[in-house]
Amino acid sequence: MSQESKPPLHELPDLPLVRHAGHKTRSGRAIVDRSEIVTDAKSEGPNHFTGPTFRNQRQRFRFDGHKLIYHLDRLEAWQRGERIAPIHIDMGLTKFCNTACIYCYGVVQKMERGTMIAGDALLRFVEDCGAIGVRSLGFIGDGEPTLNPALAEATALAASLGVDTAMATNGLKIDPAVMPQLLRDMSWIRVNLSAGDATGFQRVHQSHSRNFDQVVDNVRELVRLRNLYGYACTIGLQMVLVPECYDQIIKEAELGAALGVDYFVIKHCSDSEYGELGVNYEDFLSVSELLREAESLSNDNYVVQAKWHKINSAGESDLYKAGFRKYDVCYGTPFLLQISGNGKVYPCGPFFNKDRFLIGDLHTGSFREMVASDHYWRVHQDIVNSVDVHKDCAMGCRQDYLNRFLWDLKNPPEHLNFI
Ligand code: SF4
Repeated sequence: MSQESKPPLHELPDLPLVRHAGHKTRSGRAIVDRSEIVTDAKSEGPNHFTGPTFRNQRQRFRFDGHKLIYHLDRLEAWQRGERIAPIHIDMGLTKFCNTACIYCYGVVQKMERGTMIAGDALLRFVEDCGAIGVRSLGFIGDGEPTLNPALAEATALAASLGVDTAMATNGLKIDPAVMPQLLRDMSWIRVNLSAGDATGFQRVHQSHSRNFDQVVDNVRELVRLRNLYGYACTIGLQMVLVPECYDQIIKEAELGAALGVDYFVIKHCSDSEYGELGVNYEDFLSVSELLREAESLSNDNYVVQAKWHKINSAGESDLYKAGFRKYDVCYGTPFLLQISGNGKVYPCGPFFNKDRFLIGDLHTGSFREMVASDHYWRVHQDIVNSVDVHKDCAMGCRQDYLNRFLWDLKNPPEHLNFI
């Protein structure tokens, strides 16, 4: 039957189709014989079975989600009530910075010029991470990691212990002498750059425009050395989206391609629970088109991706718009811990300086003993029991993706076997 001759769906034909035991379909169309494989290559329809055609874009990186499902052993141990080591820890190596980006969350975490975790405490901590099974460390925190002279040694030690490392840096002060070693030992290096030209750089990073050239030169050198030595380290750029850098989105996407980095990711600026950064989440929706245009610059070797889950949060339900979350309890902190650049251990970054949740200090205590201690687990339990994630927490914190998943796991629906 041709497309034109098909009756409209709302008119049920009078005559039953005799081959179907008196049943009518609502279209009246003939029922196809499925036993024959279609061999006409030009046919668009089903029943060919020539194999997958791979139409979905494969995710090389999972920027807009989590990877907890790849750590089921740790998840199951947690479900059994065991005192697990975190899978990943984000940590600052310093509590100060050599730029002053207008969106900086570190400011609300109380930066202190000159304060940093001491080298011996850092190395002891890395040893402990290797011993208890921490799988990765992100030198991402409340200060610039490259300003801590122990960065390279800590990274080499972690690599020797089988602990993956990565860092997020403003890219200004990466010592060229240690670049090859960092590229050898780190899984990825992310340069936080929210501008594609010197004017935008000055505006957003509050730094001299000539520093833009310095960052670009450093990224270029990282890419050159990585390629020269054949290291696997991924190199990327990240823009923290604020209205002041909307005009830089496409420029930076083009810059990333020209520099030969692996990705350019765009995430929204997260505000604190007190709204100190003045983020208007609704405003992000106005640049969706621009972000899609930037994403279209992706190619086989270069991923441009916006973190849509978070950028679009203002476009979701009224509930979520107001900062409410899609879960009611935070279970994520035992899996992903955050440590301040002064060596103080907390369950999460937004809770830095909230003394009630302080776990310990890497200068005065062993991390290994901390994780085994009653106090450590009391703090995590305090989060579960006392925190109202809808009002006590910064919107879209680091553990947010994990929390959505863990909430589901903790609140199963009925009839589980009917998968
Ligand atoms: S949900 Fe709240 S308590 Fe949990 S990690 Fe995020 S900010 Fe911290």
